[in-house]
Amino acid sequence: MALIRNNALRPRILIVGGGYLGLVVAQNLLSDLGRGEATVTVVDPNPYMTYQPFLPEVAGGNIEARHAVVPLRRNLRGAEVITGSVASINHEKKFVVIEQDGDEPFELDYDQIVLAAGSVPRTLPIPGLAEEAIGLKRIEEAVALRDHVLGRIAEASLMEDDAERRKALTYVFVGGGFAGIESLAELEDLARAAVAQYDTLTEADLRFVLVEAMGRVMPEVGEAQARWVVDHLRERGIDVYLETFLQDCTDKHIKLSNGEEFDADTIVWNAGVKANPVLVDSDLPLDERGRVTVRADLRVESEEGVVEGAWAAGDNAAVPDLSGEGPGGFCVPNAQHAVRQAPVLAKNLLAAMRGESEFTQYFHKSLGAVAGMGLYKGVSQMGSFEARGVLAWLMHRGYHGYAIPTLDRKVRVFANWGLNLVLGRDVTPLKDLDVPRKAFVEAAHSKPAPKKEPAKA
Ligand SMILES: Cc1cc2nc3c(=O)[nH]c(=O)nc-3n(C[C@H](O)[C@H](O)[C@H](O)COP(=O)(O)OP(=O)(O)OC[C@H]3O[C@@H](n4cnc5c(N)ncnc54)[C@H](O)[C@@H]3O)c2cc1C
Repeated sequence: MALIRNNALRPRILIVGGGYLGLVVAQNLLSDLGRGEATVTVVDPNPYMTYQPFLPEVAGGNIEARHAVVPLRRNLRGAEVITGSVASINHEKKFVVIEQDGDEPFELDYDQIVLAAGSVPRTLPIPGLAEEAIGLKRIEEAVALRDHVLGRIAEASLMEDDAERRKALTYVFVGGGFAGIESLAELEDLARAAVAQYDTLTEADLRFVLVEAMGRVMPEVGEAQARWVVDHLRERGIDVYLETFLQDCTDKHIKLSNGEEFDADTIVWNAGVKANPVLVDSDLPLDERGRVTVRADLRVESEEGVVEGAWAAGDNAAVPDLSGEGPGGFCVPNAQHAVRQAPVLAKNLLAAMRGESEFTQYFHKSLGAVAGMGLYKGVSQMGSFEARGVLAWLMHRGYHGYAIPTLDRKVRVFANWGLNLVLGRDVTPLKDLDVPRKAFVEAAHSKPAPKKEPAKA
C-alpha cells in the first residue's frame, strides 16, 4: 500500500469529511493560516458538501439537486481535496487509509486530524428493511425518491389491477422526527400536484402513512406544535400512527405493531441517525453510541486525558452542551450546532498548533426549529414564539436560504423557488437514471432492418 508522506516543513491538518462541519472548518483554517503554515487536506467520498436540510425540498421538486450541494474544490481554494473514503484511522502512528473507487487504497499521514464524518441512518433489524427501504441522507436518495414517487404515479395511472395500483400509490414513512416529517410532507405535496395531471387518478387514490414509535412527533418543538403537526397531517388525509412500530416489510408487505398489514411500493426510513461507523476502525475514544468523546473545546478526550492532535464535532462527536439543553448533556446532532462548532474548532486547533494554551469553549443556546411541510405550509418554534402555516414556511425558506453555504448556492436556491412560484413545480419524472446505458444497449442489440432487393429500373 502506498504511503503519501507529508512535506516535513509543513504540518498537515487532515479533515475527515467535507460535510457541514468539515467545509466550514476548512474555510476558517484557510482564511486564518499564515502562508506555508500548514497544508489543509479534506477527504470526502463526494466532491461536494450536501446541505441536508434541503433534501426534503429536493425530493419534493422545489430545489434542483445540484443547487443543494456545495462543490468542495471551488470553495476550498488552497486546500488539498481528496475524493475518497477514509477506511481506518491509526492516530497513534498518525495515518489514515483512504479508499478511492477503482484504485488501490493508500495511506496518508497527518499531524492534526479533524473528525467530521457525520452520521448515517440508524436502522433496526426489521425483516425486509435493508432490501426494500430507502433513507434520506444523501442527494442521490432525494433525486431517486422524487423520480420513484412520480414514476409510480405515472405507472399506476395505467394499472387496471386494483391491488397493484393501491400498492404503487402507498407510501410509508417511518420516523416522525424533523427530517421524517419534512420528507413525508414535501413528498405528499408533490404527489398531490402530480396526480392532478392524470384523468385516471384522484387524490383519494394516494395513501401516505407515517409510522412513529413515540407518542408524539418532532421532539424539537413543543407539545402544542407537535399536536398541531399531527392534526395538520391528518387533515391532509395522511394516516399518522403514533406508538406504532414497523415490524416487517419483506417483499414490500408492511406489518405494523398495531396489527395492520398492507402492501406499499415506497418505504422511507427516517428513524434517527448514529455516528459514522468509520470511527469504529480507529484507535480514538468512543462513547457507548459510537461518537468520539470530546471536551467543550472540541479536543478529543479519553479517560486518560486530552488526545493530542485530534479534534471532533458535529454529528460524529459527543459534544458537551454547556447550555444545559441537550439530552444527556450533549449537543443534538444538527446543522445549527455543526456550523457554530466549526469556527471554534478551527480557532482552537490553530491555537494548539501555535503553542497557545487558552482554548474557547463551545457554547450555543438553540435558536429553535423551522420546518417546511410542502408549499405554503410549515411549523416553527423560536423560544416561546410559535408559528404555523405560511409564516412558518416563510421562516423556513428565509432561514435555510440564508444558511446554505456560499452566495452562489443562496442565489441558485432563491432563483429555484422564484421560478417554481411563477412557472409551477415541475412534476416530470426522469426515467432510468440508474441504468443510463439501457437505451443505447437496446439500440446496439436491436434487429437490423430486413434487406430489400433494390427496385428494378
Ligand atoms: C433530511 C434532513 C433534514 C435536516 N434538517 C435539518 C434542519 O432543518 N436543521 C438542522 O439544524 N439540521 C438538520 N439536519 C441535520 C444536519 O444536516 C446535520 O446535523 C449536519 O449536516 C451535520 O454536519 P456534519 O458535518 O457533522 O455531518 P455531515 O454534514 O453529514 O457531513 C459528513 C461528511 O462526511 C462524509 N463522510 C462520510 N463517511 C466518510 C468517510 N469514511 N471518509 C470521509 N468522509 C466521509 C460525508 O460524505 C459527508 O460529506 C437535517 C438532516 C437531514 C438528513
